[in-house]
Amino acid sequence: MKAVVWQGVGRVGVETVPDPQLLQPTDAIVRVTKTAICGSDLHLLDGYVPSMVHGDIVGHEFMGEVVEVGPEVRRVKVGDRVIVPFPIACGKCWYCEKGLTSLCDNSNPNPGLAEKLWGYSPAGLYGYSHITGGYAGGQAQFARTVYADANLYKVPDGLTDEQVLFLTDILPTGFMGAEHCQIEPGDVVAVFGCGPVGLFGIASAFLLGAERVIAIDRFPERLEMARTYGAETINYEEENVFELLKEKTGGRGPDSVMDAVGLEAQAHGFLGVADAVKQTTRVLESDRPHALRAAIMACRKGGTVSVPGVYGGLADKIPVGAFMNKGLTMKTGQTHVHRYLDRLTGYIERGEIDPTRIITHRLTLDEAPHAYHIFKHKHDGCIKCVLDPWADPADHEPTPAPQAQG
Ligand code: NAD
Ligand code: ZN
Repeated sequence: MKAVVWQGVGRVGVETVPDPQLLQPTDAIVRVTKTAICGSDLHLLDGYVPSMVHGDIVGHEFMGEVVEVGPEVRRVKVGDRVIVPFPIACGKCWYCEKGLTSLCDNSNPNPGLAEKLWGYSPAGLYGYSHITGGYAGGQAQFARTVYADANLYKVPDGLTDEQVLFLTDILPTGFMGAEHCQIEPGDVVAVFGCGPVGLFGIASAFLLGAERVIAIDRFPERLEMARTYGAETINYEEENVFELLKEKTGGRGPDSVMDAVGLEAQAHGFLGVADAVKQTTRVLESDRPHALRAAIMACRKGGTVSVPGVYGGLADKIPVGAFMNKGLTMKTGQTHVHRYLDRLTGYIERGEIDPTRIITHRLTLDEAPHAYHIFKHKHDGCIKCVLDPWADPADHEPTPAPQAQG
């Protein structure tokens, strides 16, 4: 089959690799019909997540049709159309029973490295390096999925692939990011980063009762998309974000602030340069925490900082003094995708969320290297790329322009 593989820092390619096989009686093989590239894939591409190996199949946002199941799979059947949550739940451990599926105790088969770096290992994740299990990803024509009964989520027939694909990750991630904001009626929420996660964070904050959302980025098309979701916007290259957030909230600051940027935040000035230099060593500092710093500083006293943005290792100059003295709360984590699926599918079915609005590029799997390039550099107005593993590049239709409303 064809698959997108990591070929070293800064390089992915499409290679022919062996088809996946059932390895455990609880596995299922999925023929992938749609897959997408996530901001987290960029952290892997750029070499900030340790333990990637040349040839690893990437991709953790994928869906398709079940074509084979192991002898112990009961709930899932051949022919089912499913989405595959990116964190892998065993369905039985203490964490899975509490709905904290991205913290599953059993799905990372090599937890040693994660335990060294983080104390305890979180769940295994598809296509996301060996520190989270070394599972082959879903930017491929087929994927082996594990603990099929606990993970594969059947989607209603009436919904298209594009409507449900983002249930695998970024839609629940934006939603959990907003839930972590602990929104109360009348609240003002600030969101750093207007990528797919930030945009779904904005939409979710309104669904959860925020009165106003103020979104921060620098790309005009992303800020424009944020406005179509009802946010006010600030271009951080043109304005003083801290002062403007303060001014827009009557001097008090936003009630909660979301960091939907993560470890590759862009920053100007001394700290930005210092982060970039230290990060090249991967040892002095592995993460550039600029949005996190800004979120902590901007948040009102007693407010909440929600961090859906991914961090991998160590970061410097986090304003812990501001964090402590302002009495802030921080909530974060890889998303517990499973617990949000019924609720978010309901929003999609009722037309209260239209996840397809953020798709700017529809490409074939063969075009993955180009897709990674435009998504990383935000070229060509790219906000989200969806890849079709079976489309022939020759008869591929151009992407329609994204809708402004809906
Ligand atoms: P993306 O790269 O498309 O978006 C990031 C956005 O942040 C970009 O628009 C960029 O311009 C903006 N940005 C950069 N520096 C900034 C700054 N200093 N201030 C404000 N904005 C800034 O990525 P995405 O797909 O939206 O993902 C965002 C983050 O969420 C990533 O770190 C990704 O790994 C993470 N993520 C987390 C989970 C989870 O389970 N917690 C799931 C999916 C993605
Ligand atoms: Zn992701």
